[in-house]
Amino acid sequence: MEAGSLRSVDTYSLRSLVREIPDFPEPGVGFKDITPLLGDAVGFRSAIDLMTEPLRNERIDLVVGIEARGFVFSAPVAHALAAGLVPIRKPGKLPGPVESLTYQLEYGAGTLEIHTDAVAPGARCLVVDDVLATGGTAAAAASLVERQGGVVVAFCFLIELDFLGGRALLGDGAPILSTLRYEG
Ligand code: AMP
Repeated sequence: MEAGSLRSVDTYSLRSLVREIPDFPEPGVGFKDITPLLGDAVGFRSAIDLMTEPLRNERIDLVVGIEARGFVFSAPVAHALAAGLVPIRKPGKLPGPVESLTYQLEYGAGTLEIHTDAVAPGARCLVVDDVLATGGTAAAAASLVERQGGVVVAFCFLIELDFLGGRALLGDGAPILSTLRYEG
């Protein structure tokens, strides 16, 4: 796809830019590799356009991006929505005082951190990540935002793996917007 001649692609074409890598990073996992999409100028731009389109009329103060692939999408989403960007990172990466949360992963546990002064009380926040799988990561990010008095107004993912049921962990308070959904 050429960026100059073709200005956008639909979700069908976008799906063809996501490559499935079997048994990565461990046996039994079908890893959704987004690097072909990122490497395609029109595909990447279209992904950001499709992710932000339902949010055009929402007032979003802060986009909350989850390390690491979440950063790739959260920064252009924040730019498109004229919002600020708050990074949620793995332990030991943020330089200032942090609040931490440890949560269950499919196998084992994970920890995420946020700067203690990152979210003003009442700030309207959008949680962004590349993939919604079992939901633990996004739920932990939302909890960190809410502990600071922020309001999660929506979750936004490029990809949702429906068969893992992650949206059940995110409650029904905020809409969950996924551009590409996979049923199996
Ligand atoms: P979860 O907490 O199970 O919803 O996992 C979400 C996080 O793990 C996201 O930050 C994704 O980057 C990553 N992830 C989980 N499963 C996959 C998968 N099948 N393909 C690509 N990334 C995944």
